[in-house]
Amino acid sequence: MRLSRYFMPTLREAPSDAQIVSHQLMLRAGMIRQEAAGIYAWLPLGLKVLRKIEQVVREEMDRAGAVEVLMPTLQLADLWRESGRYDDYGDEMLRIKDRHERDLLYGPTAEEVITDIFRSYIKSYKDLPKNLYNIQWKFRDERRPRFGVMRGREFLMKDAYSFDIDEAAARRSYNRMFLAYLNVYARLGLKAIPVRADTGPIGGDLSHEFIILADTGESEVFAHRDLVEMGAPGPDIDWDGDLQDLVEQRTRLYAASDEMHDAARFEAEAPEDKRMTARGIEVGHIFYFGEKYSKPMKAVVAGPDGQERPVQMGSYGVGVSRLVAAIIEASHDDAGIIWPDSVAPFRVAVVNLRAGDAAVDAVAEQAYQALVAAGLDPLLDDRDERPGAKFASLDLVGLPWQLIVGPKGVAEGVVEVKRRATGERQTLPLEAALKVIA
Ligand code: ATP
Ligand code: MG
Ligand code: MG
Ligand code: MG
Repeated sequence: MRLSRYFMPTLREAPSDAQIVSHQLMLRAGMIRQEAAGIYAWLPLGLKVLRKIEQVVREEMDRAGAVEVLMPTLQLADLWRESGRYDDYGDEMLRIKDRHERDLLYGPTAEEVITDIFRSYIKSYKDLPKNLYNIQWKFRDERRPRFGVMRGREFLMKDAYSFDIDEAAARRSYNRMFLAYLNVYARLGLKAIPVRADTGPIGGDLSHEFIILADTGESEVFAHRDLVEMGAPGPDIDWDGDLQDLVEQRTRLYAASDEMHDAARFEAEAPEDKRMTARGIEVGHIFYFGEKYSKPMKAVVAGPDGQERPVQMGSYGVGVSRLVAAIIEASHDDAGIIWPDSVAPFRVAVVNLRAGDAAVDAVAEQAYQALVAAGLDPLLDDRDERPGAKFASLDLVGLPWQLIVGPKGVAEGVVEVKRRATGERQTLPLEAALKVIA
């Protein structure tokens, strides 16, 4: 992409109502624009990051055996009347009437819709287990939408739903999601802590939240410090096994959200120097809730004995759009964002320090074409701007690499490569520079 033709409306100053650094940087980098309270348009750079996060989530869901579907954003109120949640859900639900006076709602989550799909087709234990997920916009009329996409009203969520014949099988499904979530966050460069959580309006009795530590986070967590450093399980585990040992390793140490916190237990289970109380961002939440929806909605399956029983369900959410902000909270400096390679909107900026100078243009173009050919998704800064202004905006948008082409280097047959995260620079011939970036 050539920056002269792109749409990357960077701002020198953050609007004064942006209180946290990720919101300020997303506005300054031209990633999002607020259209109404908690409702955002995603501009090209923001959209690229959102799509990359989505893709990481998709790959890890697929690896763990989940199957993608796409459910509508608008749902029938009648389904929610069947589950009994229509009246309970409260003011966060955006309720709509169509021209026939039918009650609709903009889905805040999709347990009812997926249960309706499931019961229409699946009748036997032989078709289980199943895990269906979608990555779709949700709407919750939050009392206090704030911090940009961190707490939006319209937001993108990956929500998965598991269906099993009995509790033991449902626990295996839960374990798969638990471990897949840790792999997702690790690939995004984040350290997520799984904490015991309250099940809230989703209901049920087994639940974990995944929390990224950040002072600006709206959640409070209490955890054994060793859990913070415990790595993700990685992709090469037996996804068809019960995975109980891997989950137990990560749930043995004390970790709880504020609703579930038990101070006496914390003191008994973690020595004082290992007790961490911190703020964090909830980037995922998983639930096992058994028959809560399948029973009232009559989603039943026949077991090996021929007897019908309500299917055992769980649901699993990742805040995809919130993660864009969470990654920035975890990875930035005074100059701007520092994207992890896995979700960077472009891998490298080719910085032409003297656009219009034939010799410099030629080398910048050659570098750009080579990077395009290598599939490295470069952004060519071909704007007619001072070098200082270029570096300021490129450091702000935080691409992992800058390949800097200037008149002095071109005369000597070299370019400069800068790693955004460390500021480290190397002066090299173009061929060698391209290898560093690849
Ligand atoms: P919160 O405690 O932040 O209000 P929640 O517990 O209500 O979130 P869940 O119902 O568990 O949210 O939804 C799954 C995930 O969706 C959350 O873990 C979070 O990452 C994301 N999410 C929830 N609400 C929002 C929102 N208003 N804006 C952006 N992401 C959200
Ligand atoms: Mg909420
Ligand atoms: Mg919550
Ligand atoms: Mg939650």
